[in-house]
Amino acid sequence: MAQSTGQSVHRTRFLLDASGRAAVVGRTLGVAAQVVDTLFAYAQWYDSTIEDRDCHTRIESGPAGWWYSNRLPGAAARRLLVFHTDSDLPTARTAARKAGFDALLGASTHLGPLLQSKGYLPDDMPIRGASAGSQRLQDFGGADWLAVGDAAQAYDPLSSQGIWKALDSGSEAGHLVHYQLQADAPVGQDQSYIRQYMAHQDRRWQQYVAQRNFYYRQQSRWCDDVFWRRRMAA
Ligand SMILES: Cc1cc2nc3c(=O)[nH]c(=O)nc-3n(C[C@H](O)[C@H](O)[C@H](O)COP(=O)(O)OP(=O)(O)OC[C@H]3O[C@@H](n4cnc5c(N)ncnc54)[C@H](O)[C@@H]3O)c2cc1C
Repeated sequence: MAQSTGQSVHRTRFLLDASGRAAVVGRTLGVAAQVVDTLFAYAQWYDSTIEDRDCHTRIESGPAGWWYSNRLPGAAARRLLVFHTDSDLPTARTAARKAGFDALLGASTHLGPLLQSKGYLPDDMPIRGASAGSQRLQDFGGADWLAVGDAAQAYDPLSSQGIWKALDSGSEAGHLVHYQLQADAPVGQDQSYIRQYMAHQDRRWQQYVAQRNFYYRQQSRWCDDVFWRRRMAA
């Protein structure tokens, strides 16, 4: 135990990296991350005193990205509004400020009028941002470690698969590590369970990328705008 630095040392037969997009274990071990895009999510909460019974997830595309909005379950009318664009585009700087976010919303066709018609007003908090791009670790694990959830592969929120995928890969990895530890061969010698997990993760990623590209290509109105041009070229 190195108390002066606040760090402690533990020994383990097997390590799971469940650190989300940071993929702390994988990156510390020198595994490269493959980053597909620089999608970033900018979010603002809205409140209203008017009843809102809309229980759909609303999605709207625009020239520099796309929006989604959800009403929170509960008595009070409260909505989350998120704008997605690439972090290196000028629109990202606009979306990061409240005035800019409101201006982008004002230019939207559906969500701006929807919030206005229901009397929604933004809360006092600053715009919150988070990485939302597609990325994966080059290797999903090794002889004595595996990455699960977003640490292994993180998806675009358009997929709506993030939480399911995190639970599913965590469960699968948990079972396979158990089998590996139960096997006669010491960890690192018979890696069939580890290889099985990594092959499955690899298939998942191929399927995800194909679906992501398919859905982005459905939008054909702004082919000349950088955000969409990048995705058409994928
Ligand atoms: C804007 C946005 C919208 C989304 N919308 C949806 C949606 O509608 N539906 C959906 O299914 N998914 C959605 N997702 C994705 C979903 O949130 C993630 O896929 C999911 O949370 C991944 O779970 P995870 O446990 O792998 O990682 P995380 O939830 O990121 O958890 C990782 C944890 O590890 C901790 N950690 C990091 N580093 C360290 C360290 N060094 N030491 C100790 N702990 C550490 C973090 O603090 C965190 O608690 C969205 C994501 C974004 C960005």
